[in-house]
Parts: sequence; structure tokens; C-alpha cells
Amino acid sequence: MQHLTTKSVLKEHCGVFGIYAPGEDVGRLTYMGLFALQHRGQESAGMAVTDGENIALEKDRGLVAEVFTLERLQRLRGDLAIGHVLYGQTNSASMAENAQPLAVTSRRGSIALAYNGQIINAPALRAELSNLGYLFRTDSDIEVIASLIAQADAADLDSALMETLAKIKGAYALVVLTPDRIIGIRDPNGIRPLSLGRYRDGYVFASETCAFDTIEAEFVRPVNPGELVSVGHAGCRSSQFAEADKKICAFEYIYFARPDSLIEGVGVHGARRRAGHILAEEHPAEADMVISVPDSGASAALGYAEAADIPLDAGLIKNRYLGRTFIRPGWQDREFAVRLKLSPLREVLAGKNVVMVDDSIVRGTTCGRLVRLLKKNGVQKVHVRVASPPVISPCYYGIDTPCCTELIAAELDPKDICARIGADSLGFLSIAGLRQAIGLSADSYCLACFSGHYPAGRP
Ligand code: SF4
Repeated sequence: MQHLTTKSVLKEHCGVFGIYAPGEDVGRLTYMGLFALQHRGQESAGMAVTDGENIALEKDRGLVAEVFTLERLQRLRGDLAIGHVLYGQTNSASMAENAQPLAVTSRRGSIALAYNGQIINAPALRAELSNLGYLFRTDSDIEVIASLIAQADAADLDSALMETLAKIKGAYALVVLTPDRIIGIRDPNGIRPLSLGRYRDGYVFASETCAFDTIEAEFVRPVNPGELVSVGHAGCRSSQFAEADKKICAFEYIYFARPDSLIEGVGVHGARRRAGHILAEEHPAEADMVISVPDSGASAALGYAEAADIPLDAGLIKNRYLGRTFIRPGWQDREFAVRLKLSPLREVLAGKNVVMVDDSIVRGTTCGRLVRLLKKNGVQKVHVRVASPPVISPCYYGIDTPCCTELIAAELDPKDICARIGADSLGFLSIAGLRQAIGLSADSYCLACFSGHYPAGRP
């Protein structure tokens, strides 16, 4: 079965969560945290909990609410837990094995690990470990990380982690569970997000702060690029294992993260709304109304409407009951797949000139279908405005993007894209506009899918 979102061609790989909460039901809290992170991965979910001695692990294919039955949650008792939601290859027979966390036992004891990102030198490391006789059970990078830790010469876990972190390259937000603490780690560029929060007498880590809000935890700060933060019975300790060179994924703000999250301390809804303001200045249009492509275009459409002083209306209604299984294999490229997801409001649209704001254009197929759908329903002119720059390069840092030949902006300039999708005009947010909308210092972003410049290298 295939899961399609409105922007089904871009998929976040994972969300991670970790909590140290003495005397609390950490299984229930982790369930709630993962539920808030469900948009980051719908293929499998998992949780590892320790009572101070043993690590209990439950994971399976499916959504958080499907995987964690009451029976399973009752087995997940302790003071410390980590959890994970995964996007993976659909129809992969190995999906259940690739689910995280991964638990491993070495001479330094038992640990469980979960991560979001992509290790760009994982194939080389996997080959080296295989030559040493290591038998891999999954095709996940987390097993490469776990086996590097297990094989390290170091006497203690912290030194083994240091040895491992010196070897892996790429993007990672990693949580490691031991019997007495949780360690949250972010790669030296901090490409994938990870935040630290406070929960009563304990601490919590999450890919996005919306998970903190769900359990009424308080956001403390982002884990810094190149930082390792350890929380547990001994309190909270931090160390910098590598020099920080911050390059946060700009696409988190554009599309992946929930609008109610803070990424790097910046509110996602606000960043999208400002992107809409700037987009209206960069690409004005004469129109009767602004509509969004739900849901991720909503904040930018609001910003565009405010700055352009054009009324915002609901032109496209999203089916609320989109599940993982609403579409059958092979259907995703069909015109009616779009109609299953989005319905035009004819009474609002007929006879109007419309600005349709979308968060991004990747292949251009969905956008073209929406333009046709609007015109079939009586829209006179469709001006497409995109709240991100053209996507010209694939992502190697944990986002599943199509290859270059499928990226419409890698092949065509905006004028030709406009003709291809059948719009009356088309405008993309500039890279400078995107930086300004998010508001971090100008060199703090990974913009590789818009520029082709990869801050942490390519595989
Ligand atoms: S290449 Fe694009 S999607 Fe990937 S991390 Fe960089 S900005 Fe994010």
C-alpha cells in the first residue's frame, strides 16, 4: 500500500523522541510524543523503554496508534524511553526489521538507538564492517551506527560513541538509550532538527517541539550542531564533540515540520507566513482571491493574501480521511488520485482569477493537475505562487526526493514550467527571500536542493 500526502513526492524519513521522566509513565508519554510526530513517518513506529536494568522494545509496521496497543504499552514501563516513527520504502519486505529503535548488546552493556537523517558514507562503512565479519540484519544506517559502537575499541560507551561519531558523515539527529540515561546527538552541521525540553523533574528530546506541547513539556533549546547532551539520573550534561557549522534544512520550514513547531527556535507558521509576504512582493499578481494548496501551503497563502491585500478563501478542500491505504499501488500517477485528496469549491471559484499558493514544486505533476482541476471548475486565470525556490537537486540528508531527471526545475526554467503546468503565471520565492523569511543568520541553512551545494558532502 502506498501513502500519499498532498506533496507525496517528498518524504521526511523519520521523527525521534526521547524522555527521562522519573516516576512517570514514559511509555504513554512517548506514545503521545510520537503521535505528534506522525507526519514525519507513517510506515513504522517503535519504542524502547528501560527500567534501569533491561531494555524492553516494541516496534512494528503501521501508524503509532496501530502499533502501540494497550497490551504493548503495558510492557513498556520505566523512567527512560526513546521512540521513533519511520518513513521507508513502500512494499519493502524488510520494513518490520528496519523499524527503529534498534537494540544492541555489546561488552559495554545494552543500548537502543534511533535516528533521523542519512549517513552518506554508510555503504563504505557497511562494507568495512562486513569484511570484519559483521552480519547485517537490516539495510538501515542505524545498524551501521550500532555496529560501529559495538565494535569500537574504547572501554566505555562515551568513548565508543566518540569513535563512532568521528567515522560517520552526513545528517543525523540521534537518540541513544542506556539503562541510566538518554543521549541526544546532532551532526556537526545540525541538518536535521533536534530540540531539548524539560518535563517536570526530567528532560525530553524531540525532532519537533510540537511533541513537547502534546505532553506539556517546556522547550529549553535546540541541541546544537556537533553537540552531545546526556540526560538521566545524574542530571543533564553537554559536550561539543565537533566544531559546529550550522546548516539547518530549509525544507523543514517550507514543508516537513508542523506549523506549530519551533525549528531552531523559529516558529514554522511564522516563517511560512513571512515567506508568503515576501513572495507577494517578489511576484505580485492581479487576482480576485488567494487560495492555498492544503495543508502545507496554508500559512504562506495567508502571508501572500495579507501582503497583496487580496482576500484569502478556501478554494480547495482536503479530504480529512486520507489514510495510509486510501490509494492502491499504481494509482498515484493518475488524475483521479488528486481528486481523491482535494476537491475544488466551485461556488467560490467559478469565474474568478485566482492566486494558488503551494509550498513547493518538485515534479510539477500535482501542480499541473490542480491547475487543470481549477480551470475545469470555472476558474478564469490561475497564477501559481510557490513559497520556496525551484528544487533542482536531490537531497542526500534524509529526505526522499526524486532523482534529478524527475525534478521539473532541474530540466525547465520557470517560463517553461508555467507552460507545462498550464498556469497563467508562475513565481517562485527567491533563495534570499527564503533566508529572510526564516530569519536565522544567512549562512545557517542547508539549501542544497535549491543550489546543488551540499554542506556535508555527497555520497
Ligand atoms: S538538500 Fe534540501 S531537503 Fe535535503 S537537507 Fe538540504 S535543504 Fe533539506
